[in-house]
Amino acid sequence: MKKNDIFELEITDMGVDGEGIGHFDGMTFFIKDALIGDVIRARVTKLKKNYGYARVEEIISPSTFRVEAKCPHHRRCGGCQIQALSYQKQLEFKQQKVRGNLIRIGGFSETEVDEKMLPVVGMEEPFRYRNKAQFPVGIDKEGNVVTGFYAARTHSIIPVEDCLLGVEENAPILAEIKDWMTENVVSAYDENSGKGLLRHVLVRFGFTTKEIMVCLIINGKKVPAQNDLIKRLEKIEGMTSISININTKNTNVILGDTTECIWGQAFITDYIHLRNTNDELVGKKEEYTLSDTAVAYRISPQSFYQVNPVQTEKLYSTALDYACLTGNEYVWDLYCGIGTISLFLAQKAKMVYGVEIVPQAIEDAKNNAKLNGIENAEFFVGKAEVVLPEFYENLKSDVAAGKASEDANAMLTPDVIVVDPPRKGCDEACLDTMLKMQPKRIVYVSCDSATLARDLRLLCDGGYEIEKIRAFDQFAHTMHVETTVALTRK
Ligand code: SAH
Repeated sequence: MKKNDIFELEITDMGVDGEGIGHFDGMTFFIKDALIGDVIRARVTKLKKNYGYARVEEIISPSTFRVEAKCPHHRRCGGCQIQALSYQKQLEFKQQKVRGNLIRIGGFSETEVDEKMLPVVGMEEPFRYRNKAQFPVGIDKEGNVVTGFYAARTHSIIPVEDCLLGVEENAPILAEIKDWMTENVVSAYDENSGKGLLRHVLVRFGFTTKEIMVCLIINGKKVPAQNDLIKRLEKIEGMTSISININTKNTNVILGDTTECIWGQAFITDYIHLRNTNDELVGKKEEYTLSDTAVAYRISPQSFYQVNPVQTEKLYSTALDYACLTGNEYVWDLYCGIGTISLFLAQKAKMVYGVEIVPQAIEDAKNNAKLNGIENAEFFVGKAEVVLPEFYENLKSDVAAGKASEDANAMLTPDVIVVDPPRKGCDEACLDTMLKMQPKRIVYVSCDSATLARDLRLLCDGGYEIEKIRAFDQFAHTMHVETTVALTRK
């Protein structure tokens, strides 16, 4: 075979980025926009020894899982990879992805995984779920200002006025900002030359409070016609915070270090409610009862905050469930961010210790604890794989020397450890210390099932046993899947 050859094949699998996978002439082909079950005519774009890439020339017979994608931009936009796949099939795919990784990478048996894994928790309404959007601002070929999203794997902006994963409030905000730019001749940032002012527009929306935050990320120190900008934005219902973030670096990182609030407050507030989640109930909306324990969070432009609030409530409530707290426990929450999970845990535990690498997030965590009147949570800044081992060794020698405080032993052998690491998973030094601390239970919240499987193997070889596994669809129409696992000490 050679480049540009045309051939027919059936798509039999899906790859990690949502691409279709099929076989032809002893070769494996990866084909963007082809869905499992499609029979297509494909054109070879790149060939390697045993595999190749191709693109769809024609769909000969569409997959029964194919649906009309709601968003007209979904094929070009880098945001959604699998919007043309029925939601039911998306969920099935995510369940299989987690299951497959646990078996292949973690080395767990099919029987064990099938026995312990509950059905994936999907959304009732898998659109308009995101509470945060970051729109790049640029100039099109005709020189007009455009806002939208990056096309897949590129930095060219597709004009999208209204992303269907985001809230409806985004569109009027963007329209006002574009009008303000036109009327006041405000330039858009150009990545190639490094010139131009406005880089990104960040919008956050508090689902429970309806509070809106707008932050303009600029390549400069201030914006022209600031009063006109404020006048246009403040009249939008729910507007609570308008700020400017300064980023003059030539970088892909969106936010710079300095943020200045120019109107209203520097933050918005949102609540996460605890849900009633015995495992049969999760996913059935009508059976939820809102508990009276809601935690309030102050969110600033830089804070990490889960983007899908509806699913976050289900995920965190399940994580809390899996911790099996009665009020007497000592708990560690590693990779705690702004204390989102820690503060839930604190309401049901004796003491919670949070660890997080970003100092600003720990500041937020402490403030959030105060805001909720929570006094039994303490936070440490640093890498979990450094803080935890150091803490453990130091405290152990203090105990041996009779110098340690009353609760030192309880801290050394906590009842529960919760981890919620980034995609790369936990560092081995962190897992080793967790094993030394011998908690009765470990709750692992993961956004990458491959590293989850690797870490679970280590924990299980070190004396733990999987009790329950449950996947959550935090990011409908994308390939990402979140998982919560409960482990107990054998
Ligand atoms: N549990 C929080 C945050 C989860 S995201 C929540 O649900 O909101 C993962 C967090 O781990 C991020 O806040 C990130 O800053 C932090 N992090 C990344 N590497 C880390 C490390 N080595 N040690 C501690 N925290 C780390």
